Amino acid sequence: MSERDTKLKSVIDMALSVLPHEIGCDDCFDYFAAYADHLTNGAAMPEPLRLVGEHLERCACCMEELQLLLEAMKTQNKVSR
Ligand SMILES: [Zn+2]
Repeated sequence: MSERDTKLKSVIDMALSVLPHEIGCDDCFDYFAAYADHLTNGAAMPEPLRLVGEHLERCACCMEELQLLLEAMKTQNKVSR
């Protein structure tokens, strides 16, 4: 297991111990960067990020925030190239 995986696992373990089955908007927001990262890389979502995905399906407000973040990331990529 790489150092990154180990770090990610500890974050997930911590998140799972803290998070109930459903997460709120504040929790969701904390995971946005990681969620957007996985989304753009096409990587498999770890459990807490799947919860974020489930929340996004129900929460138009957070979905809007995520779209803005994704747009911002796209713009950054364009600028850096
Ligand atoms: Zn929300």
